[in-house]
Order: sequence, then C-alpha cells, then structure tokens
Amino acid sequence: MGGILITLSAAPQSRDNILRRTLVEAGASEIRVWKVGECTVLSAGDVTVDVADKVRSAVPCASVIYPVAGAPLASRSTFGPDTVVAAGESVAVGGAQFTVMAGPCAVETRDQLGECAAVVQAAGASVLRGGAFKPRTGPYSFQGTGVSGLKLLAAVSAETGLPVVSEVIDPRDVALVAEHVNILQIGTRNAQNFPLLTEAGRTGLPVLLKRGFGCTVDEWLHAAEYVLREGRSEVILCERGIRSFETATRFTLDLAAIPVVKQRSHLPIIVDPSHGTGHRDLVAPMALAAAAAGADGLLIDVHTDPTASRCDGDQALSEAQLRRLMLQLRGVLTAVGRSLPALVPLPTLLPARA
Ligand code: PEP
Ligand code: MN
Repeated sequence: MGGILITLSAAPQSRDNILRRTLVEAGASEIRVWKVGECTVLSAGDVTVDVADKVRSAVPCASVIYPVAGAPLASRSTFGPDTVVAAGESVAVGGAQFTVMAGPCAVETRDQLGECAAVVQAAGASVLRGGAFKPRTGPYSFQGTGVSGLKLLAAVSAETGLPVVSEVIDPRDVALVAEHVNILQIGTRNAQNFPLLTEAGRTGLPVLLKRGFGCTVDEWLHAAEYVLREGRSEVILCERGIRSFETATRFTLDLAAIPVVKQRSHLPIIVDPSHGTGHRDLVAPMALAAAAAGADGLLIDVHTDPTASRCDGDQALSEAQLRRLMLQLRGVLTAVGRSLPALVPLPTLLPARA
C-alpha cells in the first residue's frame, strides 16, 4: 500500500475519468487531479500495486510513480520545463523576465508603506513586499502590525496595481493572510512547518518558500512538495542564506544553490540578499551575483528612512541605493539574456520622494 502519482501529457478529460474510476474501484483515498504546465497530474493515497499496473495499461501515462516518495512534484525529472508562476495579474516569475520584489521588512504605517511602494514602483520593481506578521527571534521585539498591516498592504496594492507578498507564520492565519495578498511567504523559521506548508498549499495562491537556514537543498525541495501535493498552489523558491561559522555576514548566502536548484527542480528560484547578508552595503553585490548565476528574481528590503525602520534597518536599501541597483541589474541581465519589465508610469496618487 502507498500513494500513487500519475502524470498524463496533455491528456483529454476522458482519460482522467477512466483513471479516476480505476482508482476509486481500488478503494483509493484522496484522489486529486490538477494541471502542471501541459501535464495533468492525478494523485491518490492508499492504493495497491495491482492498481499501478492497471493504471499503466488503462491509459498511456507519461509516468506512474508508485509508491510515491521523495519530492517528485518539485523535481525536474518529473516535470521537465521551467515552471512560470503567475503572481497577481501582471507578474510571472520564472520566465524570460526577472522579477524584483521590494519593500519594507515590516509594514509600519500607511505613509511608510505608501512611500516605499512609490519608491519601489518608480525604480522598476514589480512586486511590493512587507511583513505584517513578523517572526522575531525574541518575543519582546516588534512583532508586526498584524491584521491592520495586511489591510494596508491590500489598500496600497489596489492603489498602485503592485501585487503584494507577505509572510504567514501561523496555520490558523493562512486564510486571513490569503485574503489580503497575492503571494504567501513562508519564512526561513517556518520552512519545515509542515501543517503551515500544507495549509498554504490549499489556498491556490503562489507560495514564496524561503529556504530554512538549516536546510539542505533536498530538504527545501521536500518542503516545497508539501505545498505542491495539495494540488492548488505553485511554489517560488527563495534562497536567503544558511547558517555557517562565518559571522561577517548575518547568514551565508548560498548562491551555488541557484544552479543546483535549476538542475534538480522546475520551480523558479529568487534570492533575498537582504536577509542573506544583513548589511545594506552587501545587498547590491550579492543581488547582481544572483542575477548572473541564473536567479529568476530578487526579494529586497527597502525603506525610505532605513535608520527609522522598526525591523532590520541595517539591511534596508535607501531609495537611491535601490535605483542604482536596478540600473546595474539591467546590465547584468542583458548579459545573461534576461530583462526587467518596462518601467510603468507612476500613479499620481502616491507621494513621490526626491
Ligand atoms: C522576511 O523576509 O521578512 C523574513 C523574515 O525573512 P527570513 O524568513 O528569510 O528571515
Ligand atoms: Mn527582516
């Protein structure tokens, strides 16, 4: 007994139905059917070997994995081509375009978020970041603005047209956060919180999955599998540094993980050089290196007044630093055959800072 995973390449509906019937007759539990690119995927639990054979003879399957183990849904060996993840109506992560997500570490006030949004949009970023629920090391540190922060994110997103990404730290808050954002972020400290991953995977929103700072690439892909096996959400991986003996940087940004992930997985991977280094002076060099190494995008802390930031101010870029980085990025991306989206004119609603 075990789970079964079946993929059909561009199969007509009738074949899904034949397979469903075969699985139901065998008493399979939890049958799910969904699309991954051009493929149809069926997954079911508790089936017998006989059914695996029956399935193979019933319809021409691209693959039948039985019993399922490892992380086949995240693997390139199961789904060859790169997956492009849509975020909001305008953003696609993992295609020819490079996606910059930027904004404050934490949502603080309406003015702070609005000003940051204007800055990141003017600089050419296409997604606004901002934590409403902050996973802090100590319980006495600022824990975020919670629900009011989520409301600010939704309001600023509606005004600017920028999709927003924000972190969810508690499985009980997944539905609430999902109502207000376009991408659900799962942070490094929750990278192996399996009930949280499962709950996020049920929303149908893309999940930006940070690498656990103590996780191998293999463990990270297994975490992605928890999201993907719910059959609704897609995953954007985010390298954000791992723990090593080095103390000169906050974490050790593992840029070699980019080509490793590209070999092993079809999922897009972006890089967070802000949390990865902890120092604003190190953000641009690591961002440019990530772009050169094949990352699909960046997640960057930006604050209009970094010294006043309530969270991670040392690693936040100023407006001028972000603008400079975006200019440099265009050069690196051209060299590796990618591009940033064209700059969109700013809405007049938001204050433009000099
Ligand atoms: C963040 O992006 O705000 C954050 C807390 O990141 P990480 O989980 O990588 O520390
Ligand atoms: Mn932070």
